Amino acid sequence: MKEIILIKLGEIVLKGLNRKNFEDTLIKNLRSRLTKAGRFEIKIAQSTIRVTPCDDSCDMEKACELVGKTFGITAYSRACVAEKTLEDIQQKSVEYLREQLEETQTFKVEAKRSDKKFPLKSPEICEQVGGYILEQFPHLQVDVRNPEMTVTVEVRDFGAYVRGGVIKGAGGIPVGTGGKAVILISGGIDSPVAGYMMAKRGLELTAVHFASPPYTSQRAEEKVQRLLAVVSQYAGKITMYTVPFTEIQEQIKEKCPEELFTIIMRRFMMKISERIALEKDCHALITGESLGQVASQTLKAIGCTDIVCEMPVFRPLIGMDKDEIITISRKIGTFDISIEPYEDCCTVFTPKHPRTRPVLSYVEKAENELDTEVLTENALAGVKVMTIGNSF
Ligand code: ATP
Ligand code: MG
Repeated sequence: MKEIILIKLGEIVLKGLNRKNFEDTLIKNLRSRLTKAGRFEIKIAQSTIRVTPCDDSCDMEKACELVGKTFGITAYSRACVAEKTLEDIQQKSVEYLREQLEETQTFKVEAKRSDKKFPLKSPEICEQVGGYILEQFPHLQVDVRNPEMTVTVEVRDFGAYVRGGVIKGAGGIPVGTGGKAVILISGGIDSPVAGYMMAKRGLELTAVHFASPPYTSQRAEEKVQRLLAVVSQYAGKITMYTVPFTEIQEQIKEKCPEELFTIIMRRFMMKISERIALEKDCHALITGESLGQVASQTLKAIGCTDIVCEMPVFRPLIGMDKDEIITISRKIGTFDISIEPYEDCCTVFTPKHPRTRPVLSYVEKAENELDTEVLTENALAGVKVMTIGNSF
């Protein structure tokens, strides 16, 4: 039986003149992504994308998994292709959906007919196909208001097909339609979720990670790479820049008041990330901060770090509770990696009593004890680059 995947577009359909752009990017993303599951033909018509396998070696399970992680898609379904005759549609409905129909008690048939040359109108298709299914599965009952299962028959210009339920897609808008941004990524729970959320809004991600060997280990860096690999299943290829942070942290520890350690460290992170962003044509920073979660994420503390950057800083988790963030991290598959116990540079030299309401002038004064420019240049000179995941 010939199967295809039908894809319903998300918010893209609301885009006026830009719509073609969005559709083209989505198709480009799907095309590149689906090469992992075989050779497919991808076409768009009547607000639906049709993914057709070119031969029997295509892996439809894998293809659906990949489609399910592609932003810009509200829903998708596997469907069986039928000839444009009532008899074939009836037979295929029963054959294709046999297992599901056997396990269901109530069902209804929905029909969409955009090929007006097809001799039966939609209500007649429902009646004829529904009647046939009832004959084959006498245990079933029709329930048009609240059925356990809906069998959908679509008769379109290019063919007819039959499908069961639809599966919810990843939502959002296609990656690459919103420009590029730098995600500051730690090994924690929050930043991978923040990256995922902004990729969902169409941003392409470049990652910056600060490492402080020997205080932080190689395994901590590998953990971040594994986290990014999971995020890249949604976000596409991610270039990761690992910045050596040891000298900066040691200097802050030596020369600045302990209570301001974290805030000054975070200002360095933002400044260095912005420098990398500018060089790599990225136009925003993304962090996993959530208001009030820790001392460095109070209103005053965020004020002191935000001010060092000129480009917008996106904090998609700012109004979320930890359990809400964890729910997303479990859903996207980063949680189990995030909770592995490796040191992050943020946990090195952590002050016992960090300032929760730092005063900017104090922070700036303390920072003046450091040769900020030289430290920044040294860090940038030691950056390591690697690519994670496949490009779209
Ligand atoms: P996360 O779970 O993302 O680590 P967190 O709750 O531990 O967040 P902090 O440690 O205060 O919070 O970090 C706040 C944000 O700063 C992180 O979400 C991340 O965007 C960034 N950040 C923290 N540590 C690093 C690091 N080592 N490299 C790059 N960015 C980092
Ligand atoms: Mg952290």
